[in-house]
Amino acid sequence: MHPLKFGLMDDYKIKITGIKDGSFSDSFIIKDKFFETFAQSEIISADISVNTMLLKENNKLSLGLEISGVIKKIPCDLCTEEITVPLSSSLNLIINEGNQDENIDDGIIYLGSNEKEICIKKYLFEMIVLAMPNKRRHKLNSIEKGECNKEMVILINKYTKRTKKLSDPRWEALKEIKLK
Ligand SMILES: [Zn+2]
Repeated sequence: MHPLKFGLMDDYKIKITGIKDGSFSDSFIIKDKFFETFAQSEIISADISVNTMLLKENNKLSLGLEISGVIKKIPCDLCTEEITVPLSSSLNLIINEGNQDENIDDGIIYLGSNEKEICIKKYLFEMIVLAMPNKRRHKLNSIEKGECNKEMVILINKYTKRTKKLSDPRWEALKEIKLK
């Protein structure tokens, strides 16, 4: 039997007990449904292929995760229209026995000695969030290659200028204090 068994697509579990030395890879696709369990997620729509590789050597386990695809329905920074941005990332995790708090930055997954599988869902989610570009703009990284909605940009700029003006009284007040 294949050691990597994603019984259900919303399972995201990798079996780690009873496997022989060697590498075991698998792949699957993440779609919108994946993000439903992350209520706070800014990302709601995506099409991302995931490759996993579990490696067992001298009783040591490591897990490689690779993601690549697109995040959909992300508002453009400049015009707020929804765009699709590409994303890709990879992560290598060492699997150790222990009960420490898990932290993706350490690159180590701690598992209790009785645990038979790893749920990789939250690692995948963190990878996707971290791989999101900071700037999301039509011309910069939208795969649709579209242009910003000019009317929206004008409207947004107008609004931004007005809020800037509204904060002016504070500066005026400051000037008055200085003059006293
Ligand atoms: Zn735009």
